[in-house]
Amino acid sequence: MAVTDHVDLNGFMEGVKKRNPHQPEFVQAVQEVAEDIFDFIEDKEQYHEQQILRRMAEPDRVVSFRVCWEDDNGNIRVQRGWRVQNNNAIGPYKGGIRFHPSVNESVLKFLAFEQTFKNALTGLPMGGGKGGSNFNPKGKSVREIMRFCQSFMTELYRHIGADVDVPAGDIGVGGREIGFMFGQYKRITNNFTGVLTGKGLEWGGSLIRTEATGYGAVYFLENMMKHQGRSLDGLRAVISGSGNVATHAAEKIVQLGGTVLTLSDSGGFIHDPDGIDQEKIDWVKTHKTHRRGRIEDYVAEFPSATFHADKTPWGVACDVALPCATQNELLGEDAKKLIANGCIAVSEGANMPCDLDAVHTFKDARLLYAPGKASNAGGVAVSGLEMSQNSLRKSWSEEELQQMLKDIMSGIHDRCLTYGDKGAKKGGYVDYVKGANIAGFKKVADAMLAFGVV
Ligand code: NDP
Repeated sequence: MAVTDHVDLNGFMEGVKKRNPHQPEFVQAVQEVAEDIFDFIEDKEQYHEQQILRRMAEPDRVVSFRVCWEDDNGNIRVQRGWRVQNNNAIGPYKGGIRFHPSVNESVLKFLAFEQTFKNALTGLPMGGGKGGSNFNPKGKSVREIMRFCQSFMTELYRHIGADVDVPAGDIGVGGREIGFMFGQYKRITNNFTGVLTGKGLEWGGSLIRTEATGYGAVYFLENMMKHQGRSLDGLRAVISGSGNVATHAAEKIVQLGGTVLTLSDSGGFIHDPDGIDQEKIDWVKTHKTHRRGRIEDYVAEFPSATFHADKTPWGVACDVALPCATQNELLGEDAKKLIANGCIAVSEGANMPCDLDAVHTFKDARLLYAPGKASNAGGVAVSGLEMSQNSLRKSWSEEELQQMLKDIMSGIHDRCLTYGDKGAKKGGYVDYVKGANIAGFKKVADAMLAFGVV
């Protein structure tokens, strides 16, 4: 007779904690999903019997490897590299590579788990993965970064492939690093194939990939507002981060008639009550990306602003907030401040920027709150389109891709409505966390059911 494990949520989470000691980020990501999935599967015997959620919370594999490289002074340096292949039930593993000193197995397992649901939500055939290293690109020369990327790829290449696993960029990995890694992949395998996304336009990249995550997060926000009969025109936005996602989210807010009041980095945030317009955003892009500068330098350039060292921007009064820097950057008390100051909507550009306390606070206040797995899926969606263009050996125009991105974001919004609480489709309160979790889960779970116990 089959043994059906009908543990409750607490029992399930106890097991996850026990099997993943010292991995708080991974446990947090599983908990956030499990809270919704347990209700959903309560009367659906097949998901219990087949232990679907338990299987999803166990990566297909975690590859861990040594990355040796030589710095400019001739010292041999040793870093850790990983690729977490979480789930390929609906397509090849897909997810970014992060280079940051905070990277460890827990962070990458949480990101690969989240990615599985996010990729399913896009409607494109992509499984979930994530990789990276504890290498810190800050303060390194371009040659050092190149040597590191080459060494990283010298191991990674044997685990990836256009139909196997297709990595992209993330924190610390932009077009330049993708170029170095693609060059090494090509050298080792003698294969020009769409094995990485975020490539340069001259060698297989897609238009609007760079902009897609930030733009997508704002399109999602716009969809949430429209569903309540409102627009972004004239609204004040508080944004954290000043990297790829943050600057492009800011750009799209400005294009849609909103005012951006803040940006930040790991040193603190700047508050510009006059608004951060396109010219100022361009300055930030150049300063942070090309000059590798600090956000605090903004105030010397634009004296209307103030800099707040070692602080996050959530105390600044606003209508909408977009956390676009990193995980757990917006805590329960920040959520309370935002609500008290009149914030009506939050759209996550980063992955898991709100801790569980903040998520519960937003949900209890019935705020319009979009989890990253829904709202920041625009980047991976255009990566999926880059894969299609590579397979077809063609490039779509900017207009075509802009439209596809908009359609994909509104498709994700619709999928969230389907499961986002009773009455969600009729203009009632939408629980976007629940909607995203269940819609993403169902697609992957049904594919897993079809494959049997593997
Ligand atoms: P970037 O490296 O371009 O920028 C990261 C930004 O976040 C920088 O401003 C950085 O500041 C800041 N930051 C990093 N760590 C911290 C910290 N501990 N406290 C405060 N600020 C911090 O990365 P992206 O913009 O690409 O990624 C940002 C987030 O978006 C990440 O969570 C990523 O996973 C997520 N994301 C990215 C996608 C993409 O397409 N790029 C796709 C989907 C999600 P500093 O310069 O000081 O380090």
